[in-house]
Amino acid sequence: MNTRELFLQHIGQTSPAPMGLEIVKAEGCTLTDKSGKAYIDLVGGISVANTGHRHPKVLDAIREQLDAYLHIMVYGEFVETPQVRYAELLVNNLPASLNSVYFTNSGTEAVEGAMKLAKRVTNRAEILAFNHSYHGSTQGSLSIIGDEYWRNAYRPLLPGVYHANHNEFASLDLITENTACVVAELIQAEAGVKTPSREWIQALRKKCDETGALLIADEIQSGFFRTGSLWAFEQFGIVPDILLLGKALGGGLPLGAFIADKKLMDQLTVNPVLGHITTFGGHPLCCAAGKAAMEVILEEINPESIQSKEKLFRELLVHPKIKSVNSAGLWLAVEFDSFETNKKVIEGCIANGVLTDWFLFAPACLRVSPPLVIREEEIVQACKVIVASCKI
Ligand code: PMP
Repeated sequence: MNTRELFLQHIGQTSPAPMGLEIVKAEGCTLTDKSGKAYIDLVGGISVANTGHRHPKVLDAIREQLDAYLHIMVYGEFVETPQVRYAELLVNNLPASLNSVYFTNSGTEAVEGAMKLAKRVTNRAEILAFNHSYHGSTQGSLSIIGDEYWRNAYRPLLPGVYHANHNEFASLDLITENTACVVAELIQAEAGVKTPSREWIQALRKKCDETGALLIADEIQSGFFRTGSLWAFEQFGIVPDILLLGKALGGGLPLGAFIADKKLMDQLTVNPVLGHITTFGGHPLCCAAGKAAMEVILEEINPESIQSKEKLFRELLVHPKIKSVNSAGLWLAVEFDSFETNKKVIEGCIANGVLTDWFLFAPACLRVSPPLVIREEEIVQACKVIVASCKI
């Protein structure tokens, strides 16, 4: 059997139509498949490769850590320098109240840990989340994602979870003194990059303060300059009680985190002790890679460069079949009339060396979330291919 057949035979499949590309090399903004064909990567591993694939500084940090140690102990027992130094860097780039970092294996584990922390801190059980938000695929996260199609087959899920519409003031009435937390993507990713009003986010923050509910901001996809500021919450003039990070956090290796004030986080040390346990969370290799990637982001990425690249994409993505373009920094959703049209455009792009896909809750929208280091000539070439694919 060739590797594609083995993939279909022995790799647990969940997609009815996997893309099935066989990439042998990734560098910067380029993926190369085994036939030698190159693709401009407009997906970035779904907002993971913000610094580009295999950034030399990230590779150096991984090599250095390889020579020291890999896994040595379960989370939180040993003083592991890569974790400590990365937490320090994160905290130094966050508001004062976000000063304690719990590193997990993945985004969804960060969501799980944060919901548990909110329950412990508030002694409440109800959770409010938003329609068309994605938070992960484990059963707690699945309970709060905002689409019944994805939840339904797995019921019973977590009780006490409510869903409301994003960016609607009436939704805030559901936040009460029984609410442990509100979990929100401030800018909704899989809904097709939907940005709410500043007023709504501020009202959400205010309602959480009035009721004592914790505001959990899921920046797993929006963090690390994706939206043009280091964290999306900065654009709304609020600070969440708990921040969730993942994806680009690990610099290409698996890493998630929930970040809160130490006063809150310390509640996981009592009654019961070990309030969240993980073997591999905060793996030293992932933390070393992640810290190096964040340093690269802080050195090489600035809001102006994101803004000008976003503008260039918007200028070039014009065609009668493109109904609209939602964007927040280097995060664009290009809307067609249907999934079928979008699928044809995506297939045309892939055939012509541009990798893109669609959004989970917005199947008529084509995804643009490239490495933030994408060059102007790559943007021009990618947009040429997208527009040409519209004619198919
Ligand atoms: N939250 C958001 C906003 C996400 O986009 C994702 C992943 N697409 C997750 C949570 C879950 O992260 P993971 O796949 O690492 O569990």
